[in-house]
Order: sequence, then C-alpha cells, then structure tokens
Amino acid sequence: MHETGIARRLLSVIYPMLDGKKQVTRIKLRFGELKMVQKDLLETAFSTLTRGDKRFKDTILEIEIKPVRGKCNTCQSEFDIKNFEMRCPFCGETSIDITGGYESEIVEMEVVEDV
Ligand SMILES: [Zn+2]
Repeated sequence: MHETGIARRLLSVIYPMLDGKKQVTRIKLRFGELKMVQKDLLETAFSTLTRGDKRFKDTILEIEIKPVRGKCNTCQSEFDIKNFEMRCPFCGETSIDITGGYESEIVEMEVVEDV
C-alpha cells in the first residue's frame, strides 16, 4: 500500500523532532492531488505504525488535498485543473503546464510535553 510508505517517511521526519518525552497532539499534512493519497488509508497506516507508541496515542491527523494546478501557455492564466481536464478555462487552449499537485508537506505539528 502506497500510504504505508508515506506514513513511514512522515514518521522518519517526525521522530528526530521529538526530543525528550513529548506527545504529538495534531499533525496537519498537505498533499497534491497527483500524489493520489487516500485519507482513510493514510490514517489507517499511521495508526498501525504508531500503535503502542505513547507519543502518538491521541494524535489527530489532518489531511488536506490540494487540487492540481495548471498554467496556460497561451494566456498565462493559472487555475485549478478539475477531473484532469487539460484545457484552459479562460481561453480554451489545451497547451497547459502542470504547476502544482505533487506537494507533500507537513504544514503544522502540535506537540505537548508528556508529564
Ligand atoms: Zn489560456
């Protein structure tokens, strides 16, 4: 499952940030639509990988999916591409560059001291 690999990479970034005894209360993630991340599968993978780890006992995972972005080569407009329709909504041209949709980032992370 693709999402298990994503959750593993996510944890490999987070672990070094957790110096000392801390609990992660919330992680906000953002993925481009082209990453093809399924929220429920990622949540399942994350909770499976962190099972038994106190630091992630009550972690809320917020997952935001960003639409694919395109830029028209004719009129230079930028826009969201819906349903992979490769056509400029402003001038109708089909010569389009993909400028976004591959994002994969941790937007925010909330951590509290584990007392
Ligand atoms: Zn255009």
